[in-house]
Amino acid sequence: MKTTKTTCPYCGVGCGVLVQQDDNGVFSVKPDPEHPANQGSLCSKGTALVETLAHPDRLLYPEINGQRVSWDEATQTVANRFRTIIEEHGADAVAFYVSGQLLTEDYYVANKLMKGCIGSANIDTNSRLCMSSAVAAHKRAFGEDLVPCSYTDLDQAELIVLVGSNAAWCHPVLFQRMVRAKKANPALKVVTIDPRRTQTTDLADLHLGLAPGTDAVLFNGLLAWLADNGHSATEFVTQSTNGIDAALEMAHDSAPGVNSVAEQCKLEAETVDSFYQLFASTEKVVTVFSQGINQSSSGVDKGNALINCHLLTGRIGKPGMGPFSFTGQPNAMGGREVGGLANQLAAHLDIDNPQHRDLVQGFWQTSCIADKAGLKAVELFEAIHSGKVKALWIMATNPAVSLPDSRRVREALEKCECVVVSDCVRHTDTVDMAHIRLPALTWGERDGTVTNSDRTISRQRPFLPAPGEAKQDWEIICEVARAMGFGTHFPYRSAHEIFREHAALSAFENDGKRCFDIGPWQHLSATEYDALQPTQWPLHADGQGTARLFADGKFFTPSGKAQFIAVTPRPPQSTRTPEHPFVLNTGRVRDHWHTLTRTGISPRLSAHSAEPTVEIHPCDARDQGLQEGGIAHIHNALGAVLARVKTSRNQQRGSVFVPMHWSGQFSAAASVGRLIPAVTDPISGQPEAKHATVAVEPFTAQWHGFLISRRKLSPASAYYTIIKVEHAWRYELAGNETSTSWPAFARQLLCQEDCASNWTEYYDPARQTYRAARFIGGQLESCLFISASAGLLPQREWLVSLFAQDSLQPAERASLLAGKPLRAGEDRGRTVCACFNVGEKTIRTAIAAQGLKSVEDIGRCLNAGTNCGSCVPELKALLQ
Ligand code: SF4
Repeated sequence: MKTTKTTCPYCGVGCGVLVQQDDNGVFSVKPDPEHPANQGSLCSKGTALVETLAHPDRLLYPEINGQRVSWDEATQTVANRFRTIIEEHGADAVAFYVSGQLLTEDYYVANKLMKGCIGSANIDTNSRLCMSSAVAAHKRAFGEDLVPCSYTDLDQAELIVLVGSNAAWCHPVLFQRMVRAKKANPALKVVTIDPRRTQTTDLADLHLGLAPGTDAVLFNGLLAWLADNGHSATEFVTQSTNGIDAALEMAHDSAPGVNSVAEQCKLEAETVDSFYQLFASTEKVVTVFSQGINQSSSGVDKGNALINCHLLTGRIGKPGMGPFSFTGQPNAMGGREVGGLANQLAAHLDIDNPQHRDLVQGFWQTSCIADKAGLKAVELFEAIHSGKVKALWIMATNPAVSLPDSRRVREALEKCECVVVSDCVRHTDTVDMAHIRLPALTWGERDGTVTNSDRTISRQRPFLPAPGEAKQDWEIICEVARAMGFGTHFPYRSAHEIFREHAALSAFENDGKRCFDIGPWQHLSATEYDALQPTQWPLHADGQGTARLFADGKFFTPSGKAQFIAVTPRPPQSTRTPEHPFVLNTGRVRDHWHTLTRTGISPRLSAHSAEPTVEIHPCDARDQGLQEGGIAHIHNALGAVLARVKTSRNQQRGSVFVPMHWSGQFSAAASVGRLIPAVTDPISGQPEAKHATVAVEPFTAQWHGFLISRRKLSPASAYYTIIKVEHAWRYELAGNETSTSWPAFARQLLCQEDCASNWTEYYDPARQTYRAARFIGGQLESCLFISASAGLLPQREWLVSLFAQDSLQPAERASLLAGKPLRAGEDRGRTVCACFNVGEKTIRTAIAAQGLKSVEDIGRCLNAGTNCGSCVPELKALLQ
């Protein structure tokens, strides 16, 4: 058994995993019990990593205009096109759009090429979409982009406040850590602040379901209330902070008292008072904030409003307390360390500061360096649309889906003279629009480091050979740099050499002026780099890490003091109108990641949320004429989306929630980026992805259906979504025009040629009911079910199980067409527990038949909920 220690590639928790390969070459994935981030736990996504190793749609060779070419030709072509455009239009006519999926070493060389050699700062990252507001808030308050806390603070806190964070689904291992902390210390209180009641609320002693966008009012009110009621840490405020008076004046003006806060936030005054009393009376408070704060047109101010409360009470730099930004991506933090954002230099240095520019240029020994901030993501694509930026290199991300106003982003890509994409996947909405495609390695194949939400730098180590001609991103970037004539600055032969340079830059002319310092690692040997243990920066001279920042009351502003920020709360930019009366909120679901390129190929992960849904309060659904399980047409002036209706009292009236994951590769019309306006925070440039306004109406389908097929097919229906199931793909279908001949429709969809001999079907034209199955060599190849009503379609899960069989007996074929399982219990229902593949029907049956009363009972009986714990809130709901 060969074991490789590496790091999960999904979220910013940064869990350590052990990948084991047995003598037959079979891989398995286990949590690393020694990694400080997860201490032996993994969530459902981490547990299922092994299912995503063999991607069926890899980009394996370089391509120009769809034709395979050699690496030399591809590299030279990219270099020539970029060079020509730079010579004709200047350095700012080219850009890179990179990703929190890149490793730090990849990020470092991309940034060096653009800012240090090309001389433009037009390199931005998709991390702009998830945490750039937190970066700016940290910088304003602490003088540098610094996360004060450590995950151990979650174990030691007496009060955890989660603001705009559905950690139960988005940072599951940290949520389970909080669950364990609460079990170990029943006095620990948890408060959730979110317009939605989410799975995270399940842990809360108090939930504040405030009106969307009013977080700054709530925290300004808290600041004023704490000061007025004698809860200021006077000595800390005097010795270690500046700006208290202005911040308090603004807080009093905007949130004068509990009643005013309650009215503005649309909360009960008692609820606000309870929260303020709890915050005031608890010394060890950790305030976790995430995308609900960051993805806002006032996200930076919201971050500072909550940081202000920690500064006023001196609750920072000590065990069990501090403001704590949970990052979305696996290496958003690493990108921040090397200057992956267009308004940063490397090593936490400022692009606007001439001395910092001189320092970096002196270290790199390059002839030019960008002298001003580059274009942030939304501005960048607008500049492409207007023709100012003419060449774009996109690395490891899918902006055609994930950026706001995605229709305009696609227009920009269509207009762009030269679109280069380096990716590991052959088809994404973005890769499909590229002129030049460069095959990149992915998780399990590449070598380097990542940094998680609590500043822990961990190794990602390879355990798979490189497929086809794919290369690591840093190698591709270095080859293009050499072809552009910058070879002397890119001599690297390994990720290790790049990492050492990155470490050396962090220490260069530092002398304690900058917190980010990993200087002791600049002399690591290759063996030491390979053996690097997870460590939190900054490093002490002896190479030891630092769990918590600011313990000495010293900050990294010019004065050495933390800065209070006077915050004027601003409402979201989109306001409800009679035409668009609903607020649209977006976010993640439990088992999916980004635009489904990885999790979308795992049957286990896809089973939990098989379709894009719109969550809506049942009263709103009734008023809009929407039915549970029907299809909703969600639209505004920018575009339209179709999603399955899911009613929920956890949703506020007047607000709806649609997940962010579905792209054109997995649906006909479910990319929610179509509905998000390109509105951004004026400081961070982060888009307001949590607040668009939309209309929600029924999509009047004439027919509903589903298709399960071993091969991927191309259904031409107004509504379709695709998920991977065991041995096949499953499509949910609906159309607004009924067919005059379903048999002809089926043959066109399912057959390529002469399929009649292996064909069995049932058709009742009067009831618009059609069922067909196609067999190849006795094995079920595909089946199609059509009905006038979605409720009359059979359950999918047992039909999927038939695809595991080499052949079907006559009785099984008959049951297939009848739409009823041959044996009772074959239909498990929708997957609830992804770790042990336990379905909803199985759980309901066991609860009823065996009198199960608790989540523990279910665990003992079915194993469900006993591994990652992500499904526990759903198990509780089923028990209720
Ligand atoms: Fe991966 Fe889950 Fe850990 Fe995030 S919480 S790093 S997705 S295992």
